[in-house]
Amino acid sequence: MIHVEGLEKRFGAHRVLQGVSLHVDKGEVVCLIGPSGSGKSTVLRCINALESYEGGEIRAFGERVDRNAPNIHRLRSRMGMVFQRFNLFPHRTVLENVMEGPVYVLRQSAAQAREEAMALLAKVGLAEKAQAWPAQLSGGQQQRVAIARALAMKPEAMLFDEPTSALDPELVGDVLGVMRALADEGMTMIVVTHEMGFAREVADRVCFLHSGSIVEEGPSAQVLGAPRHARTQDFLRRVL
Ligand code: ADP
Ligand code: MG
Repeated sequence: MIHVEGLEKRFGAHRVLQGVSLHVDKGEVVCLIGPSGSGKSTVLRCINALESYEGGEIRAFGERVDRNAPNIHRLRSRMGMVFQRFNLFPHRTVLENVMEGPVYVLRQSAAQAREEAMALLAKVGLAEKAQAWPAQLSGGQQQRVAIARALAMKPEAMLFDEPTSALDPELVGDVLGVMRALADEGMTMIVVTHEMGFAREVADRVCFLHSGSIVEEGPSAQVLGAPRHARTQDFLRRVL
């Protein structure tokens, strides 16, 4: 479903990604782990066409991901992205945040968008907050609204970039629970995370990124339980 082959990305003279290859099949959950600055966010941003790239190829749903291609908005809308910071629209209610994309981009009727948004809010456990303002919610609740908002666009894959890193520890579990439920439903997901418990239990595969290269990749139990590469071992010793 998502194929990244030999991806090269530079910021000026800095080679941030050096030949990253990553293949994600329909229904797979792949966790991307690695130290800060290793290029995890850049990989996701390239896949979602938020960044250009200098070499290699990215294909999503059989189409080439190219920021300058005329079809890029449509292609990007097939992937939902959730960031570390939830950036909900502050002057819209929770319900309006979730309805916005379906009404203005998918051209759904307000009635239909409202019904689907309410179902999504129920799914993330926030139906009773539909009329609240984002600022009235905890960070974990805001992040669950952000997930509902992404799902409202009916994406075929979801990209998560450290969705729980900005949250107080006691709020992390609810967000991971929503993500786990999505995975159980068969959503195709790429998840950048430092939550090793989540990676171990939910991911089909784990990729360890270091200095812009994937140095180790495999089933989550193998990479997290019996890492082969010294850099992976060193990283896991520090985060676990
Ligand atoms: P990670 O998500 O693993 O922490 P990033 O993908 O954010 O890593 O960053 C990888 C490297 O690219 C870092 O050295 C970072 O400083 C650099 N970088 C990221 N975005 C930019 C940018 N817009 N301009 C210049 N350098 C950047
Ligand atoms: Mg990052």
